[in-house]
Amino acid sequence: MLQETLKRNIQQIEESISDSLRNNHRDSVTLICVSKSVDVETTKQVVAEGITHLAENRVENLLLKQSALKESGEITWHFIGNLQRRKVKEVINEIDYFHALDSLKLAGEINKRATKCVKCFIQVNVSGEASKQGITPSELEEFVSSLSEYKNIQIVGLMTMAPFDSQEAELRQIFSQLNELKLSVENRKLPYAPCHELSMGMSRDFKIAIEEGATFVRVGTNFFHEEEKEVEER
Ligand SMILES: *Cc1c(COP(=O)(O)O)cnc(C)c1O
Repeated sequence: MLQETLKRNIQQIEESISDSLRNNHRDSVTLICVSKSVDVETTKQVVAEGITHLAENRVENLLLKQSALKESGEITWHFIGNLQRRKVKEVINEIDYFHALDSLKLAGEINKRATKCVKCFIQVNVSGEASKQGITPSELEEFVSSLSEYKNIQIVGLMTMAPFDSQEAELRQIFSQLNELKLSVENRKLPYAPCHELSMGMSRDFKIAIEEGATFVRVGTNFFHEEEKEVEER
């Protein structure tokens, strides 16, 4: 894509982030560029603009981009989305954060294949949408307890996705509920589950997510749209 368009998009995203941080009286949030929809060249353009956190949701694409961007400086790699158990061994030692831990079977496979402790977010299906991955809020406490035996898993925080068509009030409710759930885990002060982080907010809702306490936002579309206007806000 045109480097100028990309520059403009990133500037818009960063301005929105600053506004939301000010509203929330905070200094910073980690911006993750979700590069799953673009090719290697466009991903390189993003990195050339100083973005250092990238997320992919397919093992093949993550590995491909990683090798293509080897010379592009320090990049923090995030895996988002469904990770099949048979693919864990290919990717788990290549990533910095895994955002979609939602079953003990997957945790077991990660624990077995990881050569060092992996920073994981537990994905919680706060909205209860049938199509969404994640454990239910009521399963969280026990799920966290059962992870104590997995030495190679560190629970750094919780992650959620809001329904695509939620309006602002519902978004705030979903994000603030995830924040409360995060606090409930954090307050247990488990060595393997510090749980300080909240991975929530995408192109359409990252401003609201930041106002509700997000520490990591996962933004894709807003980096790459070509038209002058921003993606329609909810
Ligand atoms: C695709 C994706 C995103 C980015 O969504 P956009 O609407 O393009 O910003 C964020 N999180 C997850 C889990 C995704 O799959």
